[in-house]
Amino acid sequence: MDKKELKEKAKGKAKSTFAEFKEFALKGNIMDLAIGMVMGAAFTAIVTAVVDNVFSPLIGALTSGINLAELSVTVGGVEFVYGAVINAIVSFLIISLVMFLIVKALAKANRKDKEEVAATTKTCPYCKSEIDIEATRCPHCTSQIEE
Ligand SMILES: [Zn+2]
Repeated sequence: MDKKELKEKAKGKAKSTFAEFKEFALKGNIMDLAIGMVMGAAFTAIVTAVVDNVFSPLIGALTSGINLAELSVTVGGVEFVYGAVINAIVSFLIISLVMFLIVKALAKANRKDKEEVAATTKTCPYCKSEIDIEATRCPHCTSQIEE
């Protein structure tokens, strides 16, 4: 095997690795996952902002001035800011609820799609027209259709 042959072989190998990676990266699942993670991070930022800037002040207003985010107890000189934990829990609950609703809506849409696909029509084997699934005779070409 001379040098040129070796070089070409190496090139071919690099290419196939790249092709493999491309196949891996562009697989539907990976892209979905990546998009989901980015959206999730952005969504989390929104919910955190809403909890910090709307929910907490609302609690403050309802409880005449308690700042939820700054609620703390001092035990033996150590300050425990449990208000921040409450904020995080509220954020988590809101995110889970919204995620649950989204997943539920998606599942419903998915099911609907499948039901619609679950055929009300079939294709006539003779003229290839779309006809009713129950039809025994094609309305287009009048062929008798065997079950
Ligand atoms: Zn037909």
